[in-house]
Parts: sequence; C-alpha cells; structure tokens
Amino acid sequence: SPLTVAIDGPSGSGKSSVSRALARDLGLAYLDTGAMYRALAWWALERELDLQDQALVAQAARDLPLRISTDPDEQALSVDDTDVTQEIRQTRISAQVSAVATNLDVRGELRRRQREIIEQERQRSGGIVVEGRDITTVVAPDAEHRILITASEEARLARRALEVHGSAGAEQLAATRDQVVRRDADDSTVSTFLEAADGVVALDTSDLTLEQVISAVHALVRG
Ligand code: C5P
Repeated sequence: SPLTVAIDGPSGSGKSSVSRALARDLGLAYLDTGAMYRALAWWALERELDLQDQALVAQAARDLPLRISTDPDEQALSVDDTDVTQEIRQTRISAQVSAVATNLDVRGELRRRQREIIEQERQRSGGIVVEGRDITTVVAPDAEHRILITASEEARLARRALEVHGSAGAEQLAATRDQVVRRDADDSTVSTFLEAADGVVALDTSDLTLEQVISAVHALVRG
C-alpha cells in the first residue's frame, strides 16, 4: 500500500540528504518543497516584482510555470523552459526566499501543488518522501510516517558553512550564522518546524553522521 514519509526540519539539519537517500533506498519518489519556494523567489526576482507586494506575489505563485522532478537521483527544476536547478541555490535566493514563503496565499497555492504531487506519486511510484517545514503538520498530516529532523544551532551552522564555504572556520561560521539564524527566525513566523507536533517523531542529529541519521530514519520507517 502507498507510503508517504513526511520530513521537516530547519536549514542545515541535513534533511535533504537524508530524504533523498531514504527515497532512493525505498524506491520512492522525492519532493523538495523548499525548492518550490526558491523557484518562486527566483521567478519573482527575474520579473523584478516587489516581494513585499502580497497580491502580486500570490498571483505569481498561481501562474508559476514550474516543472519539478520527483526522481531522487535527478533533482531537475525548471521555470518556463529555464533550468534553474543551480540558480535557486544562490545566496541571493536564500536571502530572499522567506519573503515569498511568509505570504499566506503563496503557501496556499504551493501546498495545493504539493498535495497534488503526493497523490500522483502514491498512485504512480508507490509513495514519496516529502521534505520541508510544514509537511508533517499541514501538507501531509496523514502521512504514514512523520519525522522532525533537529540539530543544535552549532551543528547546523557547521554543516551549512562546510556546504557553502567548504570549511567551518570562525570566519565561515560567522558568515553562515547571519544567514541561517535570520532565515529560521523569518520562517518560524509561519511554521513551527523547530518543535515536533503531536505524533511526529523528533530525531536529534547533532552528534550523528549522515550515515547514522539515514539508518535511524530507516529504522523508524521500517517500524
Ligand atoms: O529547505 P530550504 O532551505 O531549501 O527552503 C527554502 C525556504 O523555503 C525556507 O527558508 C522557507 O522560507 C521556505 N519553505 C517553507 N515551507 C516549506 C519548505 C520551505 O516555507 N515546506
């Protein structure tokens, strides 16, 4: 029977690597919902929209010509016919994505699309691993498995610094702190991804390697 695994967590928690690995191992589809918010931010900036204009950005969300791959081995994403897989990871997008993600009409539209993809993949692929900030609580509260990946701020900063700057020295940590801490603060005005909701299993990964997190998540899903 079809399986949905919902995984939430803050930036730098390692949830993307874990979710992708899990989908691959279980032969399921994979959806990175953060990439959808990033694609909208990219498109709005491309069209030079004022991100503070709530109605305009909400309309852009409804019009967004987005195609997103659900293959865990191939994370392609395009808007119109432009491949934006790399562009959406840029610092300028990370710095501005919260502005579109805190727009409630934007969230309504992207959540609607996410539920559609989940339904489709449950039929087509036997299930899906979905990761984000509000998947366990709002997008897929009925998922067969709901997991919150947490990590201390210290651990998250170190991981993000390594990812972005290739090292986690004092300078890189300071640069990363600004971005990660501020984005979590901005994001937490609309979703409560720093605490596990009822029925959601919290997994603190501060002292675990990626391999250890993946096996812990496997154990949860196998029950
Ligand atoms: O996961 P990632 O860091 O790529 O997410 C980018 C941004 O998208 C987050 O900072 C947040 O503003 C938004 N987001 C969200 N709800 C989700 C996934 C991401 O608001 N389910």
